[in-house]
Amino acid sequence: MKRPLLATLLVNVIALVLAQAAFAAPELKTLAPGVYALVGGEGKTNSGFVVTEKGVIVIDTQGPGELAKLLREKIKETTAKPITHVINTHYHGDHSFGNQYFSEGLIIAHENTRKALIENDEGHRTMFRKFFGAESLKEFSLTLPEATFTDRMILRHGGRTMELIYAGAKAHTDGDIFVWLPEERVLFAGDLLYSGRLPLLNDGETTGALKAIDKITSTDASVLVPGHGPVSTIDDALRYKGYIEALRAEVKKMMDNGMNREEVASKVSLPPYSSWLMYKEWLPANAARVFDELTSEREKKE
Ligand SMILES: [Zn+2]
Ligand SMILES: [Zn+2]
Repeated sequence: MKRPLLATLLVNVIALVLAQAAFAAPELKTLAPGVYALVGGEGKTNSGFVVTEKGVIVIDTQGPGELAKLLREKIKETTAKPITHVINTHYHGDHSFGNQYFSEGLIIAHENTRKALIENDEGHRTMFRKFFGAESLKEFSLTLPEATFTDRMILRHGGRTMELIYAGAKAHTDGDIFVWLPEERVLFAGDLLYSGRLPLLNDGETTGALKAIDKITSTDASVLVPGHGPVSTIDDALRYKGYIEALRAEVKKMMDNGMNREEVASKVSLPPYSSWLMYKEWLPANAARVFDELTSEREKKE
């Protein structure tokens, strides 16, 4: 019997979705003895965890419940040690909304991250549902950082030393930190760094983002874990810096040619980065954000 066209199409679509889902599964990578990254498929959110003699320190708890639970499972498969600490690199839900699944650990973040989770709660949930689906926060309960700092914190625990360092200014958000393990030379950058994928700049400022990248590349890290994208090196971080610089230069040129915000957003093009994920989706918004920034920088100068 000949299968109706619609049914064939449907089967193909389901197969494609399943193939993508399989392709997009996060992958556990060992970065140094006892130091791991769970790398999201296709540029989805990365997490990390560090096994110490006294317990496990988790870096970013994922967003959707199923991914947070998967991270927890991967930790349990790796070690029998308890989770003692959780670090949120910034407030965005894809990095912090899984906190409730790790709440036996002391949750640490920048003071502004705690503030943003409280003050932006409603808008933040709306945004999260837009990305992850209407049902994505069904089981969610806001679980806030309990220990906060403003500049720098050194966490010495179970034979490990981890430096938690504030970006220094509004960068990706106003509360970004990166986590630096000087002995292992591993650095977890949160969304201060993306690899092979365009960032979402709507919450931050590119001037601060560039300074933060300089802070990151001034370490002698041999392994960098970006917030999104594959495990990286300092060279990748410099490539990412190149994107932000090229974006600023291109938008400035368009403004100098008299283009308004809408024209800049609709006409911007940066061919060297066109193979990066989210290029088509986020470049116009990135350009509009930079337009606003450059406009206020010019106003300040006048
Ligand atoms: Zn983010
Ligand atoms: Zn992110």
